Amino acid sequence: MFRSLGFRGGIHPPKYKNPTADSPIEVLPPPAKVIIPVLQHTGPCASILVKRGDRVRLGQLIAEPSSPDSAAVHSSVSGVVLSVANFPHPLGAHVLAAEIENDGQDLAVETAGIDTPWKEAAPQEIVRKIFSCGVVGMGGTGVPAQVNLLPPANNPVDTVIVDCTGCEPFAVADLRLVKEHTDEILTGALIVRKILGAKRAIVVADSSAADVASSLSDACKDEKFHDLSVALVRPKYPQSDEKILVRTLTKREIPSGGTPADAGCAVHNAATILAIARSVLSGTPLYQRTLTAGGPCVSTPKNLLVRLGTPVRNVLEFCGTDLQRTKKVVMGGPMRGSAQAELDAPVLKTTYGVFAFDTLVPGVRNYNCIGCGRCTRACPMRLSPAYLMRFTDKNNVIDAQHWGVADCIECGSCAYVCPAKINLVHFMKLGKYRVKNAAASRAAPGAAA
Ligand code: SF4
Ligand code: SF4
Repeated sequence: MFRSLGFRGGIHPPKYKNPTADSPIEVLPPPAKVIIPVLQHTGPCASILVKRGDRVRLGQLIAEPSSPDSAAVHSSVSGVVLSVANFPHPLGAHVLAAEIENDGQDLAVETAGIDTPWKEAAPQEIVRKIFSCGVVGMGGTGVPAQVNLLPPANNPVDTVIVDCTGCEPFAVADLRLVKEHTDEILTGALIVRKILGAKRAIVVADSSAADVASSLSDACKDEKFHDLSVALVRPKYPQSDEKILVRTLTKREIPSGGTPADAGCAVHNAATILAIARSVLSGTPLYQRTLTAGGPCVSTPKNLLVRLGTPVRNVLEFCGTDLQRTKKVVMGGPMRGSAQAELDAPVLKTTYGVFAFDTLVPGVRNYNCIGCGRCTRACPMRLSPAYLMRFTDKNNVIDAQHWGVADCIECGSCAYVCPAKINLVHFMKLGKYRVKNAAASRAAPGAAA
């Protein structure tokens, strides 16, 4: 086991994990109706295959990947398709989705793992199975799993990192997964290492989560997992970000605009690794996920196994949420998640938490910057958020780009420490958007050289 490792910058927000840390994962009863969007991943939308009136089974493919960087979408219930139309999406837009009435019977499609034992199978065969099961990055990124499992030939991966830190406040579901499904997660780590031909696989836990770390190190004493390593990182946010994990564990830097593969690494979180293992071993499509439901307005916070497409309202009501007192509902984590305008928004493959708060989102800029420099000290990417804010505010794209706005990982550490209560993440997102747009305009046919 590694000694406990850390990184420069970052913050120590209260963890708020106690209410659910010892709560086993419970099954949320499937809802009467699910709304399953064709976009639950980065990359292009999946292409819908069903229409109004179709009968579908649990786990049936209802939208196929439209490109190699898209992801398959499966039904999370058996029943009848009520409509295929645009529905509210957790990211704010309206997105094409299948609305399916649950017949309550859970009539499932037959599934099977890959034909060959995974240790003997060709990497392409294993990746095809994962692709067909619609696995994406479940820690919030939504990157289709196959994208990170087939890196370019000129970027060989020698290190697989499995993130079991669950570093966001309130979010406990991944930690429960590690404790309750340790063997499957470690098997997933070996499968990913085999696919990538990597020399080593490191499973990372937070040094303050002693029970998780000991579950992992005890399991690794078993001969079948003996060549996996367990590393401990010091409790600090955002230690689970892939750029931070790669730097902390390997001392390598992911280049600006690059991916972990550019540093010879692949990073997956525990939930993704579990979904990969289940797709390969039993052909189970990704139609449900675990999440933590909590926050100040939730009377009985829980870790739940939830069918994808379940309205967030069902999750909150199941946990006794005081919706009268609730002023803000966040899907994802409180630091990086997105506030919801509608309680009908569905749980997606990327939803690792649902939280209800009794305070509103602060304004974009409550007071003027006082130049204290706290944001710079907190930034784990070594950026100068106050400068980047000013450049973005003045639409100075050239300086925003030069000072590295594109490297911002949107962790929110700067905004958390800012005494002027400036929503710096808003400016970082806007700056990144403008830099990307400017690059696209320059690259457009007919653009001035
Ligand atoms: S500038 Fe970006 S990376 Fe740095 S602390 Fe702020 S949100 Fe995090
Ligand atoms: S922390 Fe806030 S007030 Fe201090 S320099 Fe950064 S933006 Fe300005």
